[in-house]
Amino acid sequence: MKIIFLGAPGAGKGTQAEIVSERLSIPTVSTGNIIRAALKDGTPMGLKARAYIEAGELVPDDVVIGIIQERLAEDDCKNGFILDGFPRTIPQAEALDAMGIVIDKVIDIEVPDETIARRLSGRRVCKNCGNSYHIDYKKPSVEGVCDACGGELILRSDDAPETVLERLAVYHEKTEPLKAYYEKQGKLFIVEGQEQVEDTTALTLKLLEE
Ligand code: AMP
Repeated sequence: MKIIFLGAPGAGKGTQAEIVSERLSIPTVSTGNIIRAALKDGTPMGLKARAYIEAGELVPDDVVIGIIQERLAEDDCKNGFILDGFPRTIPQAEALDAMGIVIDKVIDIEVPDETIARRLSGRRVCKNCGNSYHIDYKKPSVEGVCDACGGELILRSDDAPETVLERLAVYHEKTEPLKAYYEKQGKLFIVEGQEQVEDTTALTLKLLEE
């Protein structure tokens, strides 16, 4: 199955993607995680992306389309995948179509902006492996320590309140039009994001099983 998770930053699409990925044994491909890894490694792509990420802006389409093209050609993607954070603009969605990739379902997780702003301030990510936690909704077993790799949990610099407002504005302007794009293709399914992660997961899995 080839699935896209749409939604504003902080709507919980990354968490849902990880859970569904395990259930269906298909990889999650997160452009945000790939870019952050490149940034950490200091690759030319990472250096190019830094200013955009820090300002809460989108990295240029040609860069992310290149990343996706390379990643989806890898062996583990041949039986399906979940896209988390891609596409984020109409040209990115068109590029995916032009690659001949047929998406089965697009799950849009909807959460009001006010809830998102509150949630992102409590989000913590692992400095080492990028796994995501929340101080109220998805606590690690030991405070400040990643369950998966033991790395230190930190607040992402682009989760700072002023950057979050910019990211939400960018989402409404550039990414939200994708709902109409996929609705026209008959692939859009909407999930109302719930307070508890497992309640959102139940709604998501129900839609995927239909
Ligand atoms: P995320 O972790 O998905 O919120 O992504 C973090 C940041 O990476 C975004 O704010 C963008 O600057 C960049 N990014 C990730 N995915 C994309 C994409 N599909 N298009 C453009 N920029 C992206």
